[in-house]
Amino acid sequence: MKPLIAQFHGPADWTWIIACDEAAWHRIEMHTGQANVSGKILGSTDLENHVTYIRGFAVLHPFLDTAEAQPEHTIAHELGHILMNTSNETKAERKARELLSGQLVAKAE
Ligand SMILES: [Zn+2]
Repeated sequence: MKPLIAQFHGPADWTWIIACDEAAWHRIEMHTGQANVSGKILGSTDLENHVTYIRGFAVLHPFLDTAEAQPEHTIAHELGHILMNTSNETKAERKARELLSGQLVAKAE
């Protein structure tokens, strides 16, 4: 994960917390008040406290085969929230796609 965060130029003054198992992730969901959100949350960013939580289990075992369920996308999406300083999902996702397309260009070089 660290290389990905560095590659996408994540801010240095940011804390990334990886929940190592689903029990730890459940505690984070309770802590961030998202326990009752439907669907599978892969990450969560606290813009005020500069902390991003990542669901470790899903990094190792993506729930789906889609691009959106891969760890690169999760990191890029959370970085979208961070870099744009927004809790808006559409804006975060737009930034994520920008970061990910930059990654593809970098790989092709
Ligand atoms: Zn989001």
